[in-house]
Amino acid sequence: MTPRPTNWAGNITFAAGRVHSPETLAELQSLVAGSVRARALGSAHSFTDIADSPGVLISAERLPYELEVDAAAGTVRVGAGVRYAALSRALHERGYALRNLASLPHISVAGSCATGTHGSGDRNGGLATAVAAMDLVTGSGEPVTLARGDAGFAGAAVHLGALGVVTALELDIVPAYEMAQHVYEGLDLELVCERFDEVMSATYSVSLFTSWRGPVVDALWLKRRLDEPAPAGWAPGEPFFGAAPAPGPRHPVPGVPAEACTPQLGAPGPWHERLPHFRPDFPPSSRGDELQSEYLLPRRHAVEALRALDAVRGRIAPALQISEIRTVAADDLWLSPAYGEDVVGFHFTWVRDERAVLPVVDLLEGVLGAFGARPHWGKIFTTPAETLAARYPRLADFRDLARKYDPAGRFTNAYTARFLDL
Ligand SMILES: Cc1cc2nc3c(=O)[nH]c(=O)nc-3n(C[C@H](O)[C@H](O)[C@H](O)COP(=O)(O)OP(=O)(O)OC[C@H]3O[C@@H](n4cnc5c(N)ncnc54)[C@H](O)[C@@H]3O)c2cc1C
Repeated sequence: MTPRPTNWAGNITFAAGRVHSPETLAELQSLVAGSVRARALGSAHSFTDIADSPGVLISAERLPYELEVDAAAGTVRVGAGVRYAALSRALHERGYALRNLASLPHISVAGSCATGTHGSGDRNGGLATAVAAMDLVTGSGEPVTLARGDAGFAGAAVHLGALGVVTALELDIVPAYEMAQHVYEGLDLELVCERFDEVMSATYSVSLFTSWRGPVVDALWLKRRLDEPAPAGWAPGEPFFGAAPAPGPRHPVPGVPAEACTPQLGAPGPWHERLPHFRPDFPPSSRGDELQSEYLLPRRHAVEALRALDAVRGRIAPALQISEIRTVAADDLWLSPAYGEDVVGFHFTWVRDERAVLPVVDLLEGVLGAFGARPHWGKIFTTPAETLAARYPRLADFRDLARKYDPAGRFTNAYTARFLDL
């Protein structure tokens, strides 16, 4: 018997026995119309049952869409199943770029935008902020196009798969740019607290990594655009914020060889080979031997939240491989974790042991919940529906939008029932 499909980390086995990959719009429409329950699956990199369905699982990967750049509009049109690795290479070859990427290029564009996936950078919004328009086959089987400015578009850009199957997306693009990546080790946590804004705004994209094993941030990763001035007080090969430049390439998880990581040590290179931490041709992160959670909260509480986490670091560290701290610019997308306000994200790559991890997730729900934290939709969390509704002021409007496009509830699942009351 063929094993049932699982998510990337292997902690979720999908109820469906197989994934359907329609090759035409008509085939997709009849698949949706003929199913009582359905859900789209991207590259299956979420750690929750968000993409699961008791009915039919559908991939958009084989739908026939050519990549089309509209230079005048500053957009690219892509098939929804495309992954960032392939899209980035194709865009770069044509002289274009995306403004930002997540830590890995292995993930699908549609699935990433659906969950509010983000990278880092004070001036960079989440990946869904690049969506200028999207085509979808709704729960009623109708093809619909929603473009920025249309009623409901801001609700549809981060949609958790609840509106139907996205078939194509139009994304904002910019001229290609070059970057360099620099890693520093051993930052004093107190210094980070005192100079948080300065540290996080030092370059285009900044990540802090800590294993919460002491009052230290293990590493500062700077991703610098070469067409922007170098940060004040920075010189190649010199300490920065009191931290020493790493003498060799580093992996985010201390002690893990860096072969899966994009080039560091200040080597210049194209945007798509520097913005993600991981290279497309290697398995990312801990090769799937992990679970992940992330909480995003108003940036104005960043330092208080850092201190609150430091106070419970003895509880976090034993279940943790590495934690990453990033900033994301505010947007107006209803279900985006950065809705309405600049946010800071506290990410946790856990060991792959739910029994060890879940009590710490509960602890974090309290510690970071005090600052109004919104959980990443694709990573493990336990925030109840009523708390989510309080933290996402447009959540009731999203429910209405989902009922409009999916009146029979075809695209609902256990996750939408648990967290969205859908
Ligand atoms: C190693 C690793 C590193 C990560 N790093 C980051 C990071 O840096 N930043 C970050 O924010 N997140 C990160 N994530 C989380 C990841 O970006 C999200 O889980 C994202 O949703 C994955 O995209 P996917 O295509 O695999 O989505 P899936 O898990 O396949 O699906 C997610 C949701 O999208 C929906 N969906 C997918 N395709 C379609 C479609 N065509 N139409 C309609 N709905 C669709 C599904 O129904 C589901 O609801 C990371 C995950 C891993 C495993």
